[in-house]
Amino acid sequence: RILSYGSINIDVTARAHRLPRPGETVHADGYETGLGGKGANQAAAASRLGQGCGLAVGLAGRIGTDSFGADARRLLTPFGVDTTALRETPGHPTGIALITVDAAAENTITVAGGANMALDEKDVARDASLIRAASTLLLQLEIPLAVTLAAAEAAREAGTSVILDPAPAPAEALPERLLRQADFITPNESETRLLTGIYPETEADAARAARQLQAMGAAGAVVKMGARGVFYRRGEEEGFVAPFRVEAIDSVAAGDCFNAGLAVALTLGLGLSDCVRFAAGCGALATTRRGAASAAPFWNDVAGLTGL
Ligand code: ADP
Repeated sequence: RILSYGSINIDVTARAHRLPRPGETVHADGYETGLGGKGANQAAAASRLGQGCGLAVGLAGRIGTDSFGADARRLLTPFGVDTTALRETPGHPTGIALITVDAAAENTITVAGGANMALDEKDVARDASLIRAASTLLLQLEIPLAVTLAAAEAAREAGTSVILDPAPAPAEALPERLLRQADFITPNESETRLLTGIYPETEADAARAARQLQAMGAAGAVVKMGARGVFYRRGEEEGFVAPFRVEAIDSVAAGDCFNAGLAVALTLGLGLSDCVRFAAGCGALATTRRGAASAAPFWNDVAGLTGL
């Protein structure tokens, strides 16, 4: 099974003609609420894929005792995510993202972490058996770093593979101790620059960045370059996966669906280049649909696109 250890948010997205300036009020044409948070998105996407291939997926994290917490649980249900390790946290509201999108698809996003930031290392100790029971652990950077580190260490100790998504881009350098627990670190272009100082414009840049991430402690690196493809390296094995041609309309959560696909393929025991191809197919399909978790592709669609 796969476990995602991380953030759960409710995204409140308003569509307005333009973004408000400081002190100004604009009227939106409408709004939607949906499931978000990288931990939840990756769990939902992995679980949707898992339903097509018999893999169970769980999500561990914290929500509030408020109605948004109940919404988050309800929204996870149709994906088949095991939510028994979601803890309600009195005194902390469920995490939210307040998103405004204008007519040109430009956006502003304010994230209030709420209960996500109330996670602590004691949670990880309580979840040790879940982490041990998982083949693959999905981690991101939307909960306290100390908790991500503790979860990664618990996984490593148990022989559970760790896929670390260094997103959102960290404000400061990631501790070497965290990188050393990562079977794969999976930065996008801006995260790659932040971590390595190299902006991956070409395959050669990405190869250099991947080697550097290994020198920093990661066993493997997968450098996501949006519509320009993916470069991967584990040990001495490396390669480039060309992008799938799709009609992209919304790149929200493409990275989350990519990581979910990578976790599923690795857990199924596919070879590394096939794993990355499968993941790239998931990311590409996610861009053909609007929304975060709701944009996650189904097993048959990914199999159809990738031929795997
Ligand atoms: P993030 O969402 O973290 O910024 P990317 O934008 O790199 O990450 O997207 C993740 C992955 O999704 C890419 O590596 C690629 O495999 C796939 N992807 C994203 N955008 C496209 C696109 N326009 N066409 C094809 N594949 C895409």
